[in-house]
Amino acid sequence: MSQIQLPENIASLNAYSSAKSEKLNGTTWLNANESPYSRRVSLDFEALNRYPDPQPEAVIKAYASYAGLSPEQVLMTRGADEGIELLVRTYCVPGQDKIALFLPTYGMYKVTADTHNVGITALEQSLLQQGSAAEIADAVGNAKLVFICNPNNPTGATVSTDKIAAIAAALKGKALVVVDEAYIEFCEQLTAASLLSDFDNLVVLRTLSKAFALAGLRTGFTLAPPDVLAPIRKVIAPYPVSAVVAQIAQEALTPDAITQMRRQVSILNKAKEKLTEVLGGSEKIAKVMIGEGNFITVQVRQVNDIKQAMQSGLIMRPFTLFGEDNWLRISIGSEQELEQVRRWLTQPQ
Ligand code: PMP
Repeated sequence: MSQIQLPENIASLNAYSSAKSEKLNGTTWLNANESPYSRRVSLDFEALNRYPDPQPEAVIKAYASYAGLSPEQVLMTRGADEGIELLVRTYCVPGQDKIALFLPTYGMYKVTADTHNVGITALEQSLLQQGSAAEIADAVGNAKLVFICNPNNPTGATVSTDKIAAIAAALKGKALVVVDEAYIEFCEQLTAASLLSDFDNLVVLRTLSKAFALAGLRTGFTLAPPDVLAPIRKVIAPYPVSAVVAQIAQEALTPDAITQMRRQVSILNKAKEKLTEVLGGSEKIAKVMIGEGNFITVQVRQVNDIKQAMQSGLIMRPFTLFGEDNWLRISIGSEQELEQVRRWLTQPQ
């Protein structure tokens, strides 16, 4: 069979090389910032012969109410990842436009830009943290989209709502500021959603994959002024949300379910505090990054310790940061899962 030639930008991509697809023999998965709280879902459908509502009204209303917005400001997508993809596809001209991002940060901004032959203005997290809005706007240059991950994956660093507002004001008429709030439930007060009525160039990305414990459902929301969403609504797939997904998402957004989600977040935040202390006192760990989100990023002194954990079935996410190899992002899992992390930390080398 002859090999089909792929365009260079696609041939070089390996977007979904998660540890799971690499078939590691994991028993404890703390590599993808998933929630440990799974629940059984039962379904009762009579009308799957019909196409679903392209944007299920009840879910949109429920999410708008949860986010303090109106339904016209909410678009439901297949995960926040589809929101990223739709923004790049809608607002960037291939081979011409750029996005800006602040490294280190979530990898899919770059992957999506590469896939769509869109350029990247790579700035540093330290600029986002310490620079003024004017300096940031200057560095962003003529990029069409500016991705701010808040809290940032993998550092946990946060940006205040005031600063987001100042950046959006400085980039008004020039760029869309996209605040990725995948982990915002772990520090709710930092959300930029309340700014959406004040800025016509602001977008907030949300997901049910993290605090809502529904990564397998593939559900996210793009929150933005109606005029920003209008062109996206034209290019989104015809029926992106299946009726099955809509039903489960609706159940996840009832007042009771939201209360339960907040309870779980509070347990995970406390577990994270405890684990941070243990990590800080461990000889195996050189540095601990203190930040928000259901994960902790650490630097391990010896790469062999990371190998030992992986081989024993404790799967965490290793990566290179600041040109150094031994970084590890650990998701906050269940009590038993974190006990395995503690055991690994105290094991002799
Ligand atoms: N943004 C960030 C910062 C993430 O960490 C993730 C998931 N790892 C996503 C977006 C994608 O989330 P979803 O599962 O909703 O596509």
